Amino acid sequence: MPLLDVRDLRAGYGAILAVKGISLHVDEGEIVTLIGSNGAGKSTTLRAISGVIRPRGGQVTFDGQRIDRLQPHAIVRLGLSHVPEGRGIFHSLSVYENLLMGAYTRGDDLHDDLERVYRLFPRLKERLRQPGGTLSGGEQQMLAIGRALMARPRLLLLDEPSMGLSPVLVETIFETIQAIRREGATVLLVEQNALMALEIADRAYVLESGEITLAGTGAELARDDSVRRAYLGEG
Ligand code: ATP
Repeated sequence: MPLLDVRDLRAGYGAILAVKGISLHVDEGEIVTLIGSNGAGKSTTLRAISGVIRPRGGQVTFDGQRIDRLQPHAIVRLGLSHVPEGRGIFHSLSVYENLLMGAYTRGDDLHDDLERVYRLFPRLKERLRQPGGTLSGGEQQMLAIGRALMARPRLLLLDEPSMGLSPVLVETIFETIQAIRREGATVLLVEQNALMALEIADRAYVLESGEITLAGTGAELARDDSVRRAYLGEG
């Protein structure tokens, strides 16, 4: 049984149907990436899975349980955390307070989880008292991922973690995603940076105009001519 099973998912805004009946799954321990051009419906797919918007139809099953009618906080409690595009940092709260907010669904000892975040992102440990809004873009992305990890998720949804970052920081973020997986979490990754996403992904789906047009292993899709033309900048 997959950890996440999405069947015939439809989602949108007002009159717009942005996701038109897609099916995908993520097995425990995998990194799966969703690639596609601007406006293809990638962020909408993640929002509908994590409950930020309510699906218009279809089924979302997490660890054997239907979650497509649950509120976002209930979905976080089950072990699914979403790091949204734009990061959603609390600007006036300190780095430390932002991290604690990520653990609000849990009452137990946070020490080990904080240590894990500091180990993955030493940069954050140096800035615990700094207001979140004054962090650089890359540091905010680290904080957003660190905050999501505080909920101890089994599945992490990452929306464009490399957006706006320098090449060195993009490398750091991709290395961290792999470290998070090695430590036992499962990752569903949305990325504009298709080449790097396909390199670290076990499997991938291509989304175009709200529909999945191609699926395969990361390596297969990285070799696919249509993917290379559309997403890897090859003529
Ligand atoms: P990008 O890579 O540009 O973020 P995406 O693949 O994540 O694109 P979505 O953000 O899911 O695409 O957008 C899919 C469609 O839904 C687009 O046509 C977009 O304009 C529309 N859309 C997204 N968010 C909203 C919203 N809050 N209200 C209305 N329409 C929206």
